[in-house]
Amino acid sequence: MDNHEVISLGTQYIMSTYARPPVAIVKGQGVRVWDADGKSYLDFVAGIAVNALGHCHPNVVQAIKNQAEKLIHCSNLYWSEPQVRLAELLAKHSGLDQVFFCNSGAEANEAAIKLARKYSKERRGPNRYHIITMTGSFHGRTMGALTATAQEKIHHGFEPLLPGFSYAQFNDLSAVEANIRPETCAVMVEPVQGESGVNLAEPGFLIGLEKVCRQHQLLLIVDEVQCGLGRTGQFLAFQHFGIRPDIVVLAKALGGGLPIGAILATTEVASAFRPGSHGSTFGANPVACAASEAVIETLEKEGLIENARKQGEYFLRRLKELASLPQFRPLVKDVRGMGLMLAMELTIPGARVVDSCREKGLLINCTAENVLRFLPPLIVNAAEIDAAAAILAEALEEETQSNSKEEH
Ligand code: PLP
Repeated sequence: MDNHEVISLGTQYIMSTYARPPVAIVKGQGVRVWDADGKSYLDFVAGIAVNALGHCHPNVVQAIKNQAEKLIHCSNLYWSEPQVRLAELLAKHSGLDQVFFCNSGAEANEAAIKLARKYSKERRGPNRYHIITMTGSFHGRTMGALTATAQEKIHHGFEPLLPGFSYAQFNDLSAVEANIRPETCAVMVEPVQGESGVNLAEPGFLIGLEKVCRQHQLLLIVDEVQCGLGRTGQFLAFQHFGIRPDIVVLAKALGGGLPIGAILATTEVASAFRPGSHGSTFGANPVACAASEAVIETLEKEGLIENARKQGEYFLRRLKELASLPQFRPLVKDVRGMGLMLAMELTIPGARVVDSCREKGLLINCTAENVLRFLPPLIVNAAEIDAAAAILAEALEEETQSNSKEEH
C-alpha cells in the first residue's frame, strides 16, 4: 500500500483520536524512518521518546526473536525468567527495590496511584487518599491518570473525574504545601514535563518536594515515563537531583518499542501490594521484558546515556544559535531542555513549522500549540543534529518570509 491507500483505509476504520499528517511509516533503521511512498525522514520524534536506541536496533531485534521462539506469553500466574532479570536490572539502576510490570504509561500511573493509596491507608490512616499533582502535568488517558493530569483540555468531556486529587502550581513549593490536607497521601511530579512543553522542574523544587514529603509523611511519586531511561543524561532524571522517590513510573523507552510499563518502589511501600491487590494479564510479557533487558544493557554498553548528555548539549547549543539569529529572534520565545529532551518555544503556532520540516525530511512534533519538541533517539550523532538544525532553519526561514508577506 502507498501513503494514500493506508490513509484512506485508516480514515474509514480508525477512530479519529490523532490528527495525523498524511504519512504512513513502513520501516525504520537507526535514526531514520521511511514512509509508504519510499520517502525517508530523520526521526526526531522517536515514537514520542520510545525508540531510545533508534529503530530496529540489532540487540533489541535479536532479543525479541530469541524470546519469541521460546515463550511469548504465560500470564502472571507463573514466574518467568525475563521479568525477574529485568526487575533486577531496574532495581540496580534506580536504587529502588521492587517492580510491578504493566503495559503503558497510563497503566503504570494507575498502579502508582493505587499503591500510594493502599500503602497510606494501611500505614498512615484509613482516610489518606488525596494526591497532589502539578499544573501542566501529563500522566495518561485512563480515568485515574487523566484526573492526575492537571490540564483542563485533557479532562474536557470525561467528567466526573476521580475524587481525591488537587493541583499545585508546578515549581512552586509553597503551592504544594498549601494543598496538603489531613487526607493527603502523595505528591506526583514529572522532572521534565514533556507533553505541556518540555518544562523543567527546578532542582530546588524537587529537592524541596522530597523534604516536604518526608515532613508530612507523604509519598513522592516521580513520573519518568517520558524523561526516564537515559534521555536526560542520567538513567533516571531524578538522579540529577540526588533525591530518592518512593515510587517511580516508567514506560515508553522501556520496551525498545514493545508496549511495557512499570512502577518501581521501595520494599516498604511495595509491601502494600499483596496477591489480589493489583494485576495485569499482559504485564511482564516475556517478549517485552526481553526487549527491555536488551534496551537497558545496550544503553550501558554503548554509552548512550553519556551520548544523550553530550549530543543534548550540542543540540541545545545549535538551537540557541538559531534562536539568536536576527531573522529568527521574533519567532523564538525560548529554547530549553535537558539531554535529548529539547524544545524551541515559538511566538507563533508550531504546526506549519512541523509540516514544513516533515516535507523536508525531518520528523519533529509540537506540544502546547507553540512548542517544537525534539526527542531524537539516544544514538543520534552530531552530523544528524546538524542535518536536523539545517532543515529547521529552512522551515523557520519560510515562516519569517510568510509572516513578512502577511504584514505587507
Ligand atoms: N506520563 C508521562 C510523563 C507521559 O509523557 C505519558 C505519555 O506521553 C504518559 C504518562 C502516558 O503514557 P502512555 O501513553 O503510554 O499511556
